[in-house]
Amino acid sequence: MLILTEKSSVANDFAIALNAQKFAGYFATGNTIITYCQGHLFELCPPDFYDPKYKNWNITDLPIIPQKFCYSKTAAASSQTKIVMEKIKEHISDKIIIATDADREGELIARIVLEQAHLTDLSKCYRFWVSEALTPDVVKKGLENAKPLSEYNSLSLQAYARQHADWLIGINFTRFVSTGNHEIFSVGRVQTAVLFEIAKRNYEVKNFIPKPYNELEAEIRDSNGNIIKALLVNPKDNKCAFELNSQYLLSAMNKCSSRKIDFAKSDSVLKTSKPEKLLNINALEKEAYKRFGYSPEETLNIAEELYNEHKCLSYPRTPSRVMGDANVEIFREKFELLKNFYPEISGFCNPKLINQENKHIFDSSKLESHHALIPLAKLPENANQKQKNVFGIVIESFFRVCMDDYKYNEKTIHFSCNGFTFKSVIKDTVQEGWKAYERRNVTAMNDTKKENEIQEVRNFNENNCLITSLKKLDKKTTPPKEYSIDTLLTFMEKPKGDTEEKLVGLGTPATRADIVQKLFKTGYIIEDKKKLYATKKGLWLLTFLSKDKELAKIANVNQTTYWENELAVNPSLFEQHIKEYVAVSMKPEIKEVYVKEGICKCPDCGKDIQKGKSNWYCTGYKEGCKFVLWENVAGAKLSEKDVTALCSGKQTGIKHCTNKAGKKFDCKFVLNEKKEIKFEFINSKNK
Ligand SMILES: [Zn+2]
Repeated sequence: MLILTEKSSVANDFAIALNAQKFAGYFATGNTIITYCQGHLFELCPPDFYDPKYKNWNITDLPIIPQKFCYSKTAAASSQTKIVMEKIKEHISDKIIIATDADREGELIARIVLEQAHLTDLSKCYRFWVSEALTPDVVKKGLENAKPLSEYNSLSLQAYARQHADWLIGINFTRFVSTGNHEIFSVGRVQTAVLFEIAKRNYEVKNFIPKPYNELEAEIRDSNGNIIKALLVNPKDNKCAFELNSQYLLSAMNKCSSRKIDFAKSDSVLKTSKPEKLLNINALEKEAYKRFGYSPEETLNIAEELYNEHKCLSYPRTPSRVMGDANVEIFREKFELLKNFYPEISGFCNPKLINQENKHIFDSSKLESHHALIPLAKLPENANQKQKNVFGIVIESFFRVCMDDYKYNEKTIHFSCNGFTFKSVIKDTVQEGWKAYERRNVTAMNDTKKENEIQEVRNFNENNCLITSLKKLDKKTTPPKEYSIDTLLTFMEKPKGDTEEKLVGLGTPATRADIVQKLFKTGYIIEDKKKLYATKKGLWLLTFLSKDKELAKIANVNQTTYWENELAVNPSLFEQHIKEYVAVSMKPEIKEVYVKEGICKCPDCGKDIQKGKSNWYCTGYKEGCKFVLWENVAGAKLSEKDVTALCSGKQTGIKHCTNKAGKKFDCKFVLNEKKEIKFEFINSKNK
């Protein structure tokens, strides 16, 4: 038997479980060999593999669409690739267990390896697919339960199609936009649509004009001394907003002051609020960002450490927020194991809720590839602070889902007074449930803001009450909020397009962190005070794409989610559509070049200063301006900040310089009358 894993650490877990011995690049015990990839052993060939002329980026060569996609060995993994290929050849008629990570990417890694080894008969190949941390028991059980690899064929088709499509779009669009520019403009199927959404929101917020309106707030006191607040109802639309200084509102203010309520009508509804579901990877990323400011990528890495090294977390890259129907026992076992370590939270739990009828936790119909994140063991003492923080979120979610529902009566009262109506909503708690825990823990997840705004009052006597005061409130409509990393992840999970149509998610839970990271790296977005903004570079890209109907589709959320859906349903049709799309989109006649705004103005002629390879130069050089600042000055380096300071007549910070004789000295730089760098000495040191 041959077992193929994605990483050496996983192969090591198998070796421990099976008591195998270590050799260079593999493990062995009896007739069983365990070997491992190092992520992708093969990658798609670059364009110049198909035609050497593609080495140069030439816009007239586009589109580049290979007849058949070819793979080459990933350089970094070449010695391990050799071992894996040898082992597959030796075991070509033997049972082969694929134990790469149980997701689309892991499936692709394995399938390409089998393809490259010319292993076409998959009848003896099986798939090891587990969500739990790989303890020896889990490994053994997973091997027993391995299913025929052919059951994962559709996942494999999706994985190939996605990889090809991303290559086609990435190569062609990036070359199309970047050619002629001084920097790379990366374009991608999902990332560009996400960039567009951020820019759109920036625009909406910037151009939002707040509209002022009035509300009339009454304080109403009953015979028991209870006080509640109520708002005057506008008879036009039954809402509580009025035009500024509306006659109706002013007249109510006059006629209802200190008056008894004539009569009241009320409706009561029993509301139930369940505890937040178990976490999937995106929910964990959002919470870690909100509480600790960790980027989604960082949280994913920490979760991987908790899974791989500490073995205290279930498989992290999971899209599900439920357990399977068959997971009741493992869930209960972990609950019993962990409850005494976390009494401050487990004390609020109701263990009877851990049963198969509880669809809020156990629901196979909502399960995708792996169950939700749960803790598997106590966090080891040697864990670092970040691991503690992220694990703490999982622990809280795990116990919280085992708490009773929060139940309350929500009562809407309409008060009649002198022909005017005032409306109030109050609530009366019936069962505290998980809310009792939340009240004692300020850091707890807070998804209940809306409920908190409702006044909590018990036994209000609506049949005997009077208005004690009236207040005209000056209000303004508020703009939508700029995206932050957590709300952006929410948008990617449940995108809204320019139509009412319900859309599938953008990317997958496992890839979203990476997409956000890419937008930062390419310089398309920046974060300021936890808000996301498209940069000039990002906006230029979007403006350019928007000039053509076909190009614009790459930034359109509806189109992107349409593709995501097609990828899941019919991978080969999806790939065909992407090829056609790329082919019609490459239009050299509409090509434009990005003119980067200078970092500051030239002190000589006032034109923009741009960054060159090893200097900053004046864009007025064509008109004869000779102003330039070199990056290296007497052994010290200029930064962009220094250049901005110098150009506006200021000094730089202290620079540690070395003169031609090798002597070190400290000084500040400033420009002289000739606009050349002059040293302002602080003190000279002889070393
Ligand atoms: Zn100049």
